[in-house]
Amino acid sequence: MMPKPHGGKLVDRHIKRKPSEVADLPKFEINTNLAEDIENIAKGVFSPLEGFLCKNDLENVIKEKRLENGTPWTIPILLDFDKKEIKDLKEGDQILLTNTETGVHSILDIDEIYTFDKKTLAQSVYGTQDTNHPGVANVNNMKQFLLGGKITLLESKTREFDEYNLTPKETRFLFKEKGWKEIVAFQTRNPPHIGHEYVQKTALTFVDGIFINPIIGKKKKGDFTDNVILAAYETLMKYYYLKERAVMSILRTSMKYAGPREAIHHAIMRKNFGCTHFIIGRDHAGIGNYYGPYNAHMIFQEFPDLGITPVFFKSFFRCTKCDAVVNEKICPHEEKYHINFSGKKIRELLMNGEIPPENMMRKEVSETILKFDKPFVE
Ligand SMILES: [Zn+2]
Repeated sequence: MMPKPHGGKLVDRHIKRKPSEVADLPKFEINTNLAEDIENIAKGVFSPLEGFLCKNDLENVIKEKRLENGTPWTIPILLDFDKKEIKDLKEGDQILLTNTETGVHSILDIDEIYTFDKKTLAQSVYGTQDTNHPGVANVNNMKQFLLGGKITLLESKTREFDEYNLTPKETRFLFKEKGWKEIVAFQTRNPPHIGHEYVQKTALTFVDGIFINPIIGKKKKGDFTDNVILAAYETLMKYYYLKERAVMSILRTSMKYAGPREAIHHAIMRKNFGCTHFIIGRDHAGIGNYYGPYNAHMIFQEFPDLGITPVFFKSFFRCTKCDAVVNEKICPHEEKYHINFSGKKIRELLMNGEIPPENMMRKEVSETILKFDKPFVE
């Protein structure tokens, strides 16, 4: 059965109002990551959060990986301001939060203004204080004060890929309409190679449908562009998936690279979309060597009450002896028979305008990617 939203109720704090109605409130321009947090709160992706965390919740998330009321929550959603910005603000005030890029216009009801310790936050969420870790660097760049309180989204503008941007309310409706009771979610930031396809199809064998949910947004140089990822999946689904078994929708949120903690966060978001299962691969949401390859599997033992079932996968590879795509749980043969699906190698070939071998990436998918003039972020 489709799970209840996290915390029991799907949050909906999107109330359409003309910004002119609230024009007299003090206005603050925020960055795009925060604007996307606001959209995710308002549309229920971050249910049960109704706003940015207050101090008690933050301390519980740091220490217990749960909100103050005991609900599992691992990634703090925070709004930071500096001293100058808050000098005329007090608890109980209302302010406007706006962002030009997303057109987000929203109201914050300030519940609490408080300070926090950056080292404690970085150490607990990322397991390190090394400033080379992009998440730690972000924490260090945060301003000194935090504002906690409920937000109300008034409007945001239409943007590229909106046709792929379903809200939890919409995905839940769609899954129900399709008659899906068990749905497995797959998160991605890359076009699919054969290894990804096998992970997805192996999981799909046991449920009713697959929800392919790429994270869209800020990328680093050399990454595939969002356009390419979506087009590559469209092609894969067209030629290699049953139409009634697969749905793709995007998720606009920043990657934190918080490894295990982020794996829980990713699972919670997919539960809110209505999924019963979530695929966790090797080093999920990891970066560099900060986390063990299967730490993001083990952390789920701490959350028997999560309400979505993790599906753990070891990497798939091709075995020439088995003459099949396998993983270490099902293939007994020596390494000399194994060919890994190297995302790096596939990318190198594509960068040179070459089609990767068909036993690495579907020909139709490679051709779709090569149709783009600039498939990579520059
Ligand atoms: Zn084998």
